[in-house]
Amino acid sequence: MGALSSAVTEHAVVIAGGGPTGLMLAGELALAGVDVVIVERRTSQDLDGSRAGGLHARTIEVLDQRGIAERFLSAGQVHPALSFSQVALDISDFPTRHNYVLALWQRLFEPILAGWVDELGVPILRGREVVGFAQGDTCVDVELSDDTSLRAEYLVGCDGGRSLVRKAAGIDFVGLDPSTSWMIAEVEMEEQPVFGFRHDSVGTHAIGRRQEGERIGIVLTERQVEHTGEPSMDELREALVGVYGTDYRVHSPAWISRFTDMSRQAAAYRQGRVLLAGDAAHVHPPQGGQGLNTGVQDAVNLGWKLAQVVNKTSPESLLNTYHTERHPVGARVLHNTMAQVALARADERHQALREIMTTLLGMDEPRRRIAAMLSALDIHYDLGEGHPLRGRRMPDLDVHTADGPTRVFTLLHEARPVLLNLGEPDGFDVSPWATRVRLVVAEHAGVWELPVLGEVAAPSAVLIRPDGHVAWAGDLTDPELPRALATWFGPATPAH
Ligand SMILES: Cc1cc2nc3c(=O)[nH]c(=O)nc-3n(C[C@H](O)[C@H](O)[C@H](O)COP(=O)(O)OP(=O)(O)OC[C@H]3O[C@@H](n4cnc5c(N)ncnc54)[C@H](O)[C@@H]3O)c2cc1C
Repeated sequence: MGALSSAVTEHAVVIAGGGPTGLMLAGELALAGVDVVIVERRTSQDLDGSRAGGLHARTIEVLDQRGIAERFLSAGQVHPALSFSQVALDISDFPTRHNYVLALWQRLFEPILAGWVDELGVPILRGREVVGFAQGDTCVDVELSDDTSLRAEYLVGCDGGRSLVRKAAGIDFVGLDPSTSWMIAEVEMEEQPVFGFRHDSVGTHAIGRRQEGERIGIVLTERQVEHTGEPSMDELREALVGVYGTDYRVHSPAWISRFTDMSRQAAAYRQGRVLLAGDAAHVHPPQGGQGLNTGVQDAVNLGWKLAQVVNKTSPESLLNTYHTERHPVGARVLHNTMAQVALARADERHQALREIMTTLLGMDEPRRRIAAMLSALDIHYDLGEGHPLRGRRMPDLDVHTADGPTRVFTLLHEARPVLLNLGEPDGFDVSPWATRVRLVVAEHAGVWELPVLGEVAAPSAVLIRPDGHVAWAGDLTDPELPRALATWFGPATPAH
């Protein structure tokens, strides 16, 4: 890579795209003190259309881990059940403080998240696009649409399903072409429509309104899969007449768009100094409402790892664990959305399958398993053998410390690793990691219950990563503990 010209601005990390994933990643990096900048095509946080309809339990938990969940909870409405291909699955018995779905449109979610990122001082270069990049041994030169460039140690493509970063990196986007297309719109209607779902030989259609005063939302399965461009108002009228026999004198669309069930995933989430997250790494149909949620959780998995590499706490090989851990999660989302689309097919054979699945999902064990998957509460990264907590999310226990009562998620607000000692106070010398890992001595009286697994044996200590996943759990004399500390948070530093 050539010498740096005076016109090039340097940052540790450049994020292409300031949607939900890019914003969350920027917040995580800023918390760890990393110099990060977002380049965003849109001139403001405004969205065309409402897009994602809400947050699942694990996403609310990760926001809670940063102390910002309340901002979102106060702007949305809580519902006890999530939906698998329109079969309602109640999660109010799940062992989490957030045992519900939060209905909150993406157009409302993004400004709240952007507010947090702004408080953390992250600059957003708006009205500009990343148009290309050149990767070298020590840096990436990122070209912007205004003929300027940025030099960074890492570039992260959070630039959505049509990701330029992914394409320019030559990363394959592997999967299925669309089999179904849906038209989606928010409109006014002169006549009272039939609210709810309607099934016919084409597929499932829906008309609804989340609350009085809001526009009416429409989703119509289309007869044709292939289309060029966005649908017109005439096409919407025609499609309404095709399904309902009337267009309900539809007018004043806030927006009209279409989406398909294309399912594709990046073959690699990392290529050298370039990483992908969110829709740039995986696209799938919106059934089950998982896209935004998965992107935000990708960001929380990647953020602390990238920060540790940039801050030279960890070798760059730590970044490989991002692909190892998150690619299977993305693949699972693609898999379950394919199943949800199939179950909604209108023909009799699929409807028979749907009826059987609905019966099964009415049973306790299948309901808990599928709902834990959709809400991402069951994610289990393969971090090796050991206590059942290892690789799973740390539950938000009430604990008592020398400073008084607190919650485990409160201990994670700074996005720093925590060694939570619930046993003998002086059982382990953490000083070789003291600059990186916070030791908290606490007491907890009560059971440890995990989603799906149920009650697990209480460990006497837990090493919690900044993303809230357990790196190790057990007894402080376990020789695995120093190994886990070194694997995740860098080698021991000798005492001075
Ligand atoms: C109809 C519909 C319903 C949905 N419902 C749900 C739901 O209920 N729940 C759910 O979790 N998900 C849902 N989703 C999916 C959700 O909208 C996406 O998964 C989510 O927006 C992904 O966030 P992201 O930040 O990864 O990508 P995006 O939101 O696509 O953000 C990418 C950003 O990058 C910017 N950008 C693009 N290219 C460039 C470039 N070259 N340079 C700079 N900036 C660039 C864009 O302007 C954009 O701001 C739905 C999607 C649709 C279409």
